[in-house]
Amino acid sequence: MTYDSNNIFARILRGEIPCGKVYEDEFALAFHDINPQAPVHILVIPKGAYVSMNDFSARASEAEIAGLIRALGKVAEMAGVAADGWRALSNVGANGHQEVPHLHFHIFGGRRLGAMIGKADH
Ligand code: AMP
Repeated sequence: MTYDSNNIFARILRGEIPCGKVYEDEFALAFHDINPQAPVHILVIPKGAYVSMNDFSARASEAEIAGLIRALGKVAEMAGVAADGWRALSNVGANGHQEVPHLHFHIFGGRRLGAMIGKADH
């Protein structure tokens, strides 16, 4: 899949639309999800142009991969969910129900999150 440089997260990275920023470094940006599904629901995205984990795992440099994974841990710590537990989730493609075609990890926390996945919605 070709990267669409006008997707909403690319526009957030370019500063064209605002976000509720939580954390930023050389490799990653983290911001609050606009439609939170848990008391803590933060999105962590790489700064590079990657559609999904398919793309990122194949093309990203080791520094980018390490940077994104380290950002996940930092954000969980900063959000105050590290001790009680949290979930990182990345939806990929149609079966994964990915809506925004720029790789992102959801960080959920702040309550008991229940079983790993729900039933299919169609
Ligand atoms: P996914 O289904 O994994 O692609 O999830 C996309 C997520 O992006 C959803 O949870 C949306 O609520 C969230 N989202 C979409 N637009 C924005 C935005 N402008 N700022 C923050 N979160 C957004």
